[in-house]
Amino acid sequence: MTARQPSYRSTPNGSPTNSAAVAMPSGANTTTVADSALARCQGVGRTYGTGERAVVAVYDATCVVLARDRVAIMGPSGSGKSTLLHLLAGLETTSTGQISWPGLEGHPRDGAHRVGLVFQAPTLIPSMTVLENVELPMLLTDTPTGEAADRARAALDLLDLDGLRGDLPQELSGGQAQRVVIARVLAARPRLILADEPTSQLDRHTADHVADVLIQVSDEIDAALVVATHDPAIGARMRTAWPMHDGRLHPATTRQFSAANTDRSSVDTSARRGHTGSDHA
Ligand code: ADP
Ligand code: MG
Repeated sequence: MTARQPSYRSTPNGSPTNSAAVAMPSGANTTTVADSALARCQGVGRTYGTGERAVVAVYDATCVVLARDRVAIMGPSGSGKSTLLHLLAGLETTSTGQISWPGLEGHPRDGAHRVGLVFQAPTLIPSMTVLENVELPMLLTDTPTGEAADRARAALDLLDLDGLRGDLPQELSGGQAQRVVIARVLAARPRLILADEPTSQLDRHTADHVADVLIQVSDEIDAALVVATHDPAIGARMRTAWPMHDGRLHPATTRQFSAANTDRSSVDTSARRGHTGSDHA
C-alpha cells in the first residue's frame, strides 16, 4: 500500500468540510454541520463508578461522524477507545454532555440495522452454521426468511465465503470468523459500522486483509466506518485519525487527508476484492 500524505482540509471560511469526520474543540458550533451527521457527540463524558473509585473513561469528547466517513480512533490500551465506541453505538449512557444520531433518525437501539458492530473476538454462535449466523440478526428483526437467506448468501459470496456456508464457527480460522462477522454486518446494511479492535487477534497479513474487507464492505453499502485500534497500520487505512490519550480525544491533532485522497473514485476496490480469496484470512 502506498503511503498517503495527510493534509489539513477546511472550507474557505475555515469550518470543517461536510464530507469527512470532524473532531471539534469543546464548545465548537456544531450547527455548521448539516444534520446528515450519523452520530454527534457534544462534550460527552463517561465515568464508571463513584467517589474514590470513579474512573473517567472519556472526558468531554466532541466529534461528528458523517455519512461515508472512515475514522480510526487511535490510542493505547485504556485510553477510552472502546468506551467512546460504545457511546457512539448507544450501548453506554453518557455521564456528561450529549450524543445524538440525527442521520440515523433515532437511537441506534430503536431501529434495526442502523448500526453494525464488529468486536475484537468474532461473536458467532457456536452451534449455528456460518449461513445461520449471518441470517440471525435479520430473522430477529422480522426480515422474511427467504429475504434473509438471500441477503446472507449474497454477503457471503461477496466476501468469498460461500464455500464455508455450512461450516460451524469452530471450523474457521480467526480471519475467516472475523470475515463472517463482517458478512453479517454487510447483510444487515447498517448506515454506520463501529469496529472495536477488529484485527487485534490476527496476524499482520490477516489483519491487513480483514481491514481491507471492512473498508470494502463499507464502500459497498455506503456506510460510515469508525474503527478503534492501537495498530498504526490499520489507522493508516482510514481517512481520518482521532487520537485518544487518557480518555481525551485530541481534536487539535486530528488528521484529515486531502480531497484527492478522499475521492471514493480513486479507491481501488478491485485490488481489495482480489485479496478476499486469501487462504490465510
Ligand atoms: P480502551 O478501549 O482504549 O482500552 P476503555 O474504554 O476500555 O479503553 O477503558 C478506558 C478506561 O475506563 C480504563 O481505565 C478502563 O479500566 C475503564 N473502564 C472501562 N470500562 C469500565 C467498566 N465497565 N467499569 C469500570 N471501569 C471501566
Ligand atoms: Mg478497548
